[in-house]
Amino acid sequence: MKKTVLALACLFSCVAFSPAEAAWQPQLAVGLVAGQEVLALKLPCKSQIFEGNSPKAALTLPAGSQLSITHGGSHFTVNGKKLNNSGEGLFIKAAPEVKNFVFTWSQKDFRGIAKVMVRHGKLALINMVDTEDYLKGVVPEEMPHDWPAEALKAQSVAARTYALENRKRHEGEGFDLCATTHCQQYLGSKVEKAAASKAIEATYGEVLTYQGKLINAFFHTDSGGMTEDSENVWGTKLPYLRAVEEKAKYTQPWKKVLTAERVASLAGKGSHKDIGDLKRIELSTLKIGQGSNDRTSSGRVKQVVFVGSKGRAAVSGNDLRSLLGLRSTMFNMKMDHKQVTVEGYGWGHGLGLSQWGARKWAEEGKSYRDILKHYYQHIALKKLY
Ligand SMILES: [Zn+2]
Repeated sequence: MKKTVLALACLFSCVAFSPAEAAWQPQLAVGLVAGQEVLALKLPCKSQIFEGNSPKAALTLPAGSQLSITHGGSHFTVNGKKLNNSGEGLFIKAAPEVKNFVFTWSQKDFRGIAKVMVRHGKLALINMVDTEDYLKGVVPEEMPHDWPAEALKAQSVAARTYALENRKRHEGEGFDLCATTHCQQYLGSKVEKAAASKAIEATYGEVLTYQGKLINAFFHTDSGGMTEDSENVWGTKLPYLRAVEEKAKYTQPWKKVLTAERVASLAGKGSHKDIGDLKRIELSTLKIGQGSNDRTSSGRVKQVVFVGSKGRAAVSGNDLRSLLGLRSTMFNMKMDHKQVTVEGYGWGHGLGLSQWGARKWAEEGKSYRDILKHYYQHIALKKLY
């Protein structure tokens, strides 16, 4: 009985009315998993499997099918049936009459097409998905859906621009983007939220450009009080990634306490020197928006000098962030007896849009366009499709 109800529910969603016939938009190939001997997929809707670019379906599967895919030599085996591997892989798509297709892998649902490939003798699963559908599985993971609509719209445009600008990131592996935080966390259609989808639809096809080209739309959780110049984080000066003021300063305070011994050992690792026992730490006091010889103009740490019994070592703020596992490089550092206390603000690299900052500006009545033009300087908003 339960099974029948489920099947009916699926049938309904498979043929659900889809508002406008989709206009052209870029399709992204998102790598979901690689290195598998067997791939297990579920297909809630009626589906078809194609061998490579063949226009004729090799298999048609009823709604509710479960697939077990393996491969050997020049063929795939799908539920015991051999299918050709032309080198292009297998494409699992909606049957023509199905309007609201998803496939299920690892308890997650994905819109678009499932592509199965062989790489280095193992199976890889790739989701070919329209950019706007991809974003619906990304934005709710990046920003809480109950945040102001203008902040969600700003996040949507930044995430869309970031995805399209980084399309070639995994080209060598046979797809555009991975589904983890390395690119952007993408969890498919089960995480979709109405408010986030609405923000994505309201900014449909909109991207950020500088001199006519897509920008690298970096974003982070919270700047702490001021964002950062790109060259201070990764050496390259980008005219649109400049340090800009926030509505609120000294936000998201954090604290980390370490032993002097551990800090001396990590400072030694960062500078390839043995400084012996830690005696003193040299770092000026943080004033957000004020630079100094050891701080950038936003106040982030350029370098800290550790003075030990055997010598001194200078370690950059960025290196310290990863060595000590700090949330940001906007911090003060003090030594007291055998303890080192690091107290800082913000979360993330500080480049481009600050999510908490965007929320604050939205609450002040700023539009998503104002927010984006604040965090990305000298840019234009363009409708790409
Ligand atoms: Zn990636």
